[in-house]
Amino acid sequence: MSLQDLDTDLAAGVDHQIAMVMDLNKCIGCQTCTVGCKTTWTESEGQEYQYWNNVETRPGQGYPKDWEEKGGGWESANRSSVKDGDIPAKEEYGEAWEFDFEAAVSKPDTETLQPKGEDPEWGPNWDEDQGAGEYPNSHYFYLPRICNHCTHPTCVEACPRQAIYKRAEDGVVLVDQERCRGYRYCVEGCPYKKVYYNAAKKTSEKCIFCYPRLEGEGPDGEVHGPVCATECPTQLRLVGYLDDQDGPIYKLVEQYEVAIPLHPEYETAPNIFYIPPFDAPPQIDEMGETTDIDRIPEEYLEDLFGDRVHQARETLQREREKVNRGGSSEVMEILTSNNPAQQYRLEVFDS
Ligand code: SF4
Repeated sequence: MSLQDLDTDLAAGVDHQIAMVMDLNKCIGCQTCTVGCKTTWTESEGQEYQYWNNVETRPGQGYPKDWEEKGGGWESANRSSVKDGDIPAKEEYGEAWEFDFEAAVSKPDTETLQPKGEDPEWGPNWDEDQGAGEYPNSHYFYLPRICNHCTHPTCVEACPRQAIYKRAEDGVVLVDQERCRGYRYCVEGCPYKKVYYNAAKKTSEKCIFCYPRLEGEGPDGEVHGPVCATECPTQLRLVGYLDDQDGPIYKLVEQYEVAIPLHPEYETAPNIFYIPPFDAPPQIDEMGETTDIDRIPEEYLEDLFGDRVHQARETLQREREKVNRGGSSEVMEILTSNNPAQQYRLEVFDS
């Protein structure tokens, strides 16, 4: 299977495409990635509501609330026009709550730990851990999301000033803050709602894939993966170049096809890929016995990841059985590796 066949060929003018694979079977919803990103990039005025990395509970409404119903993306597979989209309201992201920190620290109780002002009705992670289904078959899983640094980004297409662009060396999607006039067509155009308007600066802002860290401008002057990946306690994120045929990303996405993008039907060709949560426990029947029915409905996973989810599940099952029988599996080795050189394969390779 070639890059061409899978529609993950490089965008015009891009030499290599940086990408990430997240194994959802390992996410514990601890939000370390969210906090790492927030404290690195979005602590300034106007960014209070911004979470370039968020982790939402699924099934659930997500952040911003019901983002999948807000349009954007390409109208069709031929990518001739961008679908109309909405700008989410501030309340749909969730306002940053104000607390009386002094009171909360000196006398922590149910009253002092409440946010100040009116009772909030929504916030980021409002529906955390609610999920769906009924006991004993209730279920949920965590879905971490960042900008997908799409190969065919509709945020870029929507901008009349060419202020958003894919940079040539690695396909990272960036907003040129000098060119941006804050029209917010990019917010409408992105179907994942991963561009944010900064009302204090009057420009749009978004995940930059921690590009300064990729360039060796991390705290120790060395090359590092994005903060969300390196801080993750379960190390569920692999980072590398999609077109590096010896790298783990290429192998999981292209060769074995077990890592798949979120909502491929938006046609933006995302470069963030997921191993879906196939390891959830099965359903339990009325006698309390374990069945062979999946607790997270297959149709729900198909809604999120498209019909390639079935093939990915079969391949992973086959590979796991191989290992259980004492054989070896490259896929399982990649997914269970603790080797940082494999997890963050960031040197630009010869092509
Ligand atoms: Fe643009 Fe949205 Fe794709 Fe990011 S996810 S590149 S913001 S269209």
